[in-house]
Amino acid sequence: MMIRIGFGFDTHQLDFNHEFWLGGVLIPHHKGATGHSDADTLVHAIIDALLGAAGLRDIGTQFPDTAPEFRGIDSKVLLSDTMKLIASRGFVIGNIDSTIVLQSPKIGPHIPAMIETLSKVMNIGTDQLSIKAKTSEKLGFIGREEGISAYAVALLNKE
Ligand code: MG
Repeated sequence: MMIRIGFGFDTHQLDFNHEFWLGGVLIPHHKGATGHSDADTLVHAIIDALLGAAGLRDIGTQFPDTAPEFRGIDSKVLLSDTMKLIASRGFVIGNIDSTIVLQSPKIGPHIPAMIETLSKVMNIGTDQLSIKAKTSEKLGFIGREEGISAYAVALLNKE
């Protein structure tokens, strides 16, 4: 059995007049994350962890943000495509652990829906995906509610 670990990080700006997609779920908030796709920071961090573990570089290499077909795309589609890429290398997910860093709003109440949604996309058990959330104690760009970050680690197994 081959065991591989991957790490992912992502950050996006928050601005008015944008939908706030996070962990595959639409969060009701007066600001949303901005970017080429739907700017789902958590899903992007998870994708980078999975690609990194499989030795498949990163999200920017696999899904370039200059490509018109990825403009405004639902990041769950990118996650689903990532699963095909890692499966083609013979990998299955052991587990994923992740942390969202965001000042506002409170994310805790949305975590069960995120786990439900993303575990379905990845075709894994809900006990294989952990999502945590914390603030930056009002420090820096996250504390000023100008942006959001997410971190993820993924363990992949190959028989
Ligand atoms: Mg991103």
